[in-house]
Amino acid sequence: MSALLEVGDLKKHFPIRRGMLSGVSGWVRAVDGVSLRIAPGETLALVGESGSGKTTTGRCILRLLEPTSGSVVFDGVDLLALKPRAMRRMRRQVQVIFQDPYGSLNPRMRVGTIVREPLDIHRIGASRRERDDMVAALLRRVGLDPSMKDRYPHEFSGGQRQRIGVARALALKPRLIVADEPVSALDVSVQAQVINLLMDLQDEFGIAYLFIAHDLAVVERIADRVAVMYLGRIAEVGTREEIFRNPLHPYTRALLQAIPIPDPTRARERAVLRGDPPSPAQPPPGCRFHTRCPSVIEACPRVEPPLLEVTPGHWVACHLYPGPGGASGG
Ligand code: SF4
Repeated sequence: MSALLEVGDLKKHFPIRRGMLSGVSGWVRAVDGVSLRIAPGETLALVGESGSGKTTTGRCILRLLEPTSGSVVFDGVDLLALKPRAMRRMRRQVQVIFQDPYGSLNPRMRVGTIVREPLDIHRIGASRRERDDMVAALLRRVGLDPSMKDRYPHEFSGGQRQRIGVARALALKPRLIVADEPVSALDVSVQAQVINLLMDLQDEFGIAYLFIAHDLAVVERIADRVAVMYLGRIAEVGTREEIFRNPLHPYTRALLQAIPIPDPTRARERAVLRGDPPSPAQPPPGCRFHTRCPSVIEACPRVEPPLLEVTPGHWVACHLYPGPGGASGG
């Protein structure tokens, strides 16, 4: 299927300055050559520990941050080449849901106004009355009583606030939603409800999601494909089945083995990740994972492994899987 979103060799490097007046002393390579594609109506989960660059990738796609280099093509349009006004128009089709339902809603605005704001900005609906009706329908669609529209965000629970965030993102009928850790701040039972809601909306409206999460367990139900990120680069990409049943990259395996098992009688070999990730300001040479990898071989500290397609649709950047000779991508 043709891609709705195609990200090519995306990089975002932040300068390091010692003081206000001093020059650049180094670079934090937060995103360092990421390529992704998302088909219409598909959910791609982007997973990795804190500091892996996944949130920065999402922000560069939305142009909330300007990438250092690379391409972001949405529905055939190069977003990085758009002037601000054209980018604002494009934002109707690419919306965002943030992690923190407490911090991402203006506490001084009533929820009806919060949800109606994008309709007002983009002049959708013939009248204020029509927009009010749309707001009521949106609140109803995300499971909230429209009579709550005059309340303020602090009067809602965390799960309800995230539903308000979803209603706001949905207002412009986007084709892609970048969901940045949308359930991480919620209790497990509430997480499941919000994920069910996102899946229902996807069925109904054909929305594609870039679903960013630090926890593989969270994405197991919602993801069609999973991309695992480590220190600014993609370590592995595959279908949900491949990543969960046949993970190849040692980092992906370690992330999976870190998921708690509800049944203690099902013992599992655990390869706990050693130490913290290195700084993206000084990524290790060769394979960036070699300082924590339990399977290091001689080439690992010297040669950076390319991302290769080892079986159709399953891409891995690891010397243990040389692949049949495909080019990098995924
Ligand atoms: Fe581990 Fe080497 Fe594979 Fe990197 S390339 S994940 S260090 S085995």
